[in-house]
Amino acid sequence: MSQRVLPPSAAIAWHSLPVPDVLSKIESAEAGLAGDEAARRLKDVGPNVIQRAKGDGPLKLLFRQINDPLIYVLLASAALAMAMGEAIDGAVVLAVVVLNTAIGFVQELRAGKAIEALVDMVPQTATVVRGGQRSVIPAAEVVPGDVVVLDAGDKVPADARLLSVKNLHVDESALTGESVPSDKHVAAVPEDAGVGDRKNLAFGGTLVTSGAATAVVVATGAATELGRISSMLHEATEIETPLTRSMAKVGRVLTVAIVAVALLIVGVALLRGYPPVDAMLAGISLAVAAIPEGLPAIITISLAIGVQRMARRRAVIRKLPAVETLGSTGVICSDKTGTLTRNEMTVRALWTPAAGAQGEAAFEQAGAALEVTGVGYAPEGELRRDGAPVGEVPEAVRALLRAGLLCNDARMTREGDACGIQGDPTEGALVVAAQKLGVDVEGTRREHRRVDVVPFSSERQLMATLHEAPGGDRVIFMKGAPEAVLGRAAIGEAGRAQVMAQVEQMAAQGMRVLAVASRPAGRDVASLDEEHLPEGFELLGLEGMIDPPRPEAIDAIKACHAAGITVKMITGDHLATARAIGGQLGLVPDGARAMNGTELSRLSEGELRAAATSTHVFARVAPEHKLRLVKALQAEGKVVAMTGDGVNDAPALKQADIGVAMGITGTAVSKESADVVLTDDNFASIRAAVEEGRRVYDNLVKALAFVLPTNLGEALILLVAVMSFPIVGGAPLMPITAVQILWVNLVATVALSLPLAFEAMEKDVMSRPPRDPGEPILSRFVLVRTAIVAVLMTAGAIGLFFYEYFTELRGGVVSEIAYREAQTAAVTTVVLFQIFYVLNCRSLRDSMLKIGLFSNPWVYVGIGALLALQLCFVYAPFMHTLFGSAPLSLDAWVKSTLVAMSILPVMSAERWWRTRRARRSAERERRSDPSDVGGVASAMANRGA
Ligand code: ATP
Repeated sequence: MSQRVLPPSAAIAWHSLPVPDVLSKIESAEAGLAGDEAARRLKDVGPNVIQRAKGDGPLKLLFRQINDPLIYVLLASAALAMAMGEAIDGAVVLAVVVLNTAIGFVQELRAGKAIEALVDMVPQTATVVRGGQRSVIPAAEVVPGDVVVLDAGDKVPADARLLSVKNLHVDESALTGESVPSDKHVAAVPEDAGVGDRKNLAFGGTLVTSGAATAVVVATGAATELGRISSMLHEATEIETPLTRSMAKVGRVLTVAIVAVALLIVGVALLRGYPPVDAMLAGISLAVAAIPEGLPAIITISLAIGVQRMARRRAVIRKLPAVETLGSTGVICSDKTGTLTRNEMTVRALWTPAAGAQGEAAFEQAGAALEVTGVGYAPEGELRRDGAPVGEVPEAVRALLRAGLLCNDARMTREGDACGIQGDPTEGALVVAAQKLGVDVEGTRREHRRVDVVPFSSERQLMATLHEAPGGDRVIFMKGAPEAVLGRAAIGEAGRAQVMAQVEQMAAQGMRVLAVASRPAGRDVASLDEEHLPEGFELLGLEGMIDPPRPEAIDAIKACHAAGITVKMITGDHLATARAIGGQLGLVPDGARAMNGTELSRLSEGELRAAATSTHVFARVAPEHKLRLVKALQAEGKVVAMTGDGVNDAPALKQADIGVAMGITGTAVSKESADVVLTDDNFASIRAAVEEGRRVYDNLVKALAFVLPTNLGEALILLVAVMSFPIVGGAPLMPITAVQILWVNLVATVALSLPLAFEAMEKDVMSRPPRDPGEPILSRFVLVRTAIVAVLMTAGAIGLFFYEYFTELRGGVVSEIAYREAQTAAVTTVVLFQIFYVLNCRSLRDSMLKIGLFSNPWVYVGIGALLALQLCFVYAPFMHTLFGSAPLSLDAWVKSTLVAMSILPVMSAERWWRTRRARRSAERERRSDPSDVGGVASAMANRGA
């Protein structure tokens, strides 16, 4: 086969050509390309992807590591040490800075890669027509010449020339920066029209906000307008969150404080008669000791691990701050269909008015309620009345089924034994019901050619189609929510009340009820005006369908309740349906309210705030109600997660603290606005994400509770020494030197704190109330811990230093050697202290025996590595040169270990005291509010931290 090369698309002004010319130039047709031709073109032009602008490049990342006030202090210290002739000290500080930068760099690079990969986890698809058949394919496989179908909510997969449009509006802000959606048409425009004026082109990467269209692709991938300016397509998530920002702020404040204290130390040292060089060195040591060098890396890694674990549990994070916010989520507002229920609709009940019951005529005894058997999409089942099979399907029922089938875009599919549907499950259920009860699906569709359609929208709550019957007569079919359809039916007030009573009865069983109606149209009527649909429809009947709750959603809701999270259901369905399903899901506590969207829109802001809290089920909700609801709950101080899938949900998703979009059924628009995308559309995944969010936060607190006390402890050791230690032979006595402190700070702290990021979930992670988002990360718990541990460590290290120093001296050891040995013993004590302390940081609430000694093997990897390094520090000759260390006797090791172990009983006492305090305050709370049953446990858990 000869290779044809399509003309380079940029060379052709597609917008200036009429449709037939476009199609012939691109060698395609309205029915699309043939499958093999599309495959050939894909090979020729390559996949339809745009190289994303990467996150920060390596150089920028490296600079960010160095551009840290703490690093500046270290560098200045190194320079100072060198200038004063302490070359080794200076070099060690430098080496440590390099090592620290390298670790931070590598970790952030990896974290960045992991986060970038998330963008690809939410698949982009496109609907194309190939060989006359519609199919959904990965957007990357779209080729020039493909005919694509665009619907409200879609992302345009590539640059395309419009073939037919219906009220099409496209948000082109990704391309032009213009946020007002641009309306589109088919007619050619002048060749010199600017990008914004090419009204007959849909550009890849832009979003369809309303309407529908078909278009032929003229350019893909890098050849598209967006591809040419791809540097603008900055999709990669920044590695920055409120937490990292506030930590950076803490870091800056800390630096200023540390520098101030260091200067003070220099002053005090000089006053006490230290030689100037030693005074300087003491100041530098203090700075080095107090700066938590490893902290930024730990935070980044914890967040990255959280993101990866959430993705594994089917919640893809699109915006990194969500990782933290998830942990404090207090209310989850969830869509019903598909998220809480399975979205497997099955028609279960049919109702038709009695023959002749039209106009003002009474519907009183009218109507027949029929049951349809069978479940799922398999077309097996029968019609029953009062439990007994109905032999012949009545003509009125056939008319109802036929109309439901024609006013419909879904198709039945069959692969082997498995039956399925393609399209909207609500519509699929109608097709299956028709097939089940003997309607010739294909034949009926063939005989009633569809002339025009008003697609279903959540606002209108109905869909209408115009058809041409065999004789040339035209008819309009309409189906939708009963309120909407009855509003256009000629049945009078009494009739409407009768039908609505029937609807209520079906809805109370948890059924979604659709009303179906028809109306003749003139032969000359060629289209439907969606703004002005005619009235006077004849009601053909009702179809009621069930959609069972997802069992895992029921469990997840229970778990959320235990975790102090309120779950609210938002649905477009009828109030009675919503209430029934809410009951099945365990959502509606006794006495909780259900409310309609219309009621909601009548409430003032203040009233809504109260109602939003006390109501758990919202029915007949329109997207704008969602936005008000989020705002009302937020005004009540709640952190709100809100799900959404439609185009019009975007504002609510953006407003929510956590916008959650559906990966499978969600529109591209909703995904772009969301913070989290669920790859399985399942409520249970939201719960998993919340759980992981809480874990990430816990682990960060653990890392802080570990790192801060050790830093403060080291600083205290120096402080005490400079303030009070004797000056021996003209030089001050120091229990630990500057470089030794660096050793402890980097080697020990990093080796021991990184494994905390892998710590398993706390047992009570989902049985305590959500974290108060305003709670500072440096909570009282962290501060108290820091003080206790730092003091203990200081006392232990200094005590042992003196003990060793004077015992050795008394034993006749040369003072220089005694000094080194005592310093080495002090360093070893601090390191062992950290080893015992890290075991206590593995859980914020439980003892290490309770959480399982070996549940996180990484901790032991860290401890093992650290011990090996410490042995090196004590015994390797080159370490003696670098760090001024000296070999220790076994006896000294035993003493260090015993001193370090003192942390264990102290931590047990601290835990006991915290638990007791928490229990007391919980009891106090309960006494003041006896109605609060769950309060004790939750208050206890809350105070525990
Ligand atoms: P949920 O909020 O539970 O996910 P939803 O938002 O999907 O539900 P809508 O799709 O807005 O709910 O449906 C609202 C009502 O519109 C339904 O109760 C039903 O009566 C009617 N309806 C739903 N789908 C269609 C459709 N394809 N054609 C006609 N009417 C429909």
